[in-house]
Amino acid sequence: MNKPLSIGLTGGIGSGKSLVADFFKLLGVSIYTSDIEAKRLMRTNSVICKSLIEAFGKKVYSVTGELNRSELAKIIFNDNDALKKVNSIVHPQVRLHYQNWLLEHMGEPYVIQESAILFDTGLYTSFDKIITVTADKEIRIKRVIERDSCSRDSVLERMNKQISEQEKIEKSDFVIYNNTELIIPQIIKIHKQILEL
Ligand code: ATP
Repeated sequence: MNKPLSIGLTGGIGSGKSLVADFFKLLGVSIYTSDIEAKRLMRTNSVICKSLIEAFGKKVYSVTGELNRSELAKIIFNDNDALKKVNSIVHPQVRLHYQNWLLEHMGEPYVIQESAILFDTGLYTSFDKIITVTADKEIRIKRVIERDSCSRDSVLERMNKQISEQEKIEKSDFVIYNNTELIIPQIIKIHKQILEL
């Protein structure tokens, strides 16, 4: 049985990645949601647990072994080096976990890894193809404010840390435009193109 093609699905905050991933799922494509898996691995992966404790102390886990998210958030708040350290501990384990997950999907034509930070981490080079979901800045801001009930400033703060839409588009094989365009026909077209690869 062949290993599936590995497709990266990315896009800036509020671009509609999760919504697009849900539609690919409806087409029968297996989806690896990096954010969810990273959060789960931070609770369950012994290499991550050990390294986080070594770096930041026992306080990052509770006595029952649960990750103390508020403590970790305090540590990385406004401390870029601490955030980089956390990422350097978590990202390699997510990569490994994804490689093993791929093996569980042998025989499928392709699978998708959804991640907001494929380009920011340089991880994009390890995929067979990349799909970027994009929408205009103001539309993304409005959607995130409605989804998260948060302030415009907090959206802008997160947005400004991400690489530009233009750079993402240039580095992608497929782009899904999610302003007022219909997204389902775009998804079906890409699905067919990938199946023909
Ligand atoms: P993040 O990186 O912040 O997790 P995301 O790229 O996964 O964001 P989604 O959560 O899929 O984005 O979409 C952001 C919000 O906008 C969601 O509430 C979603 O339902 C809504 N949304 C996405 N696309 C559309 C659309 N075409 N029309 C209306 N609402 C949309």
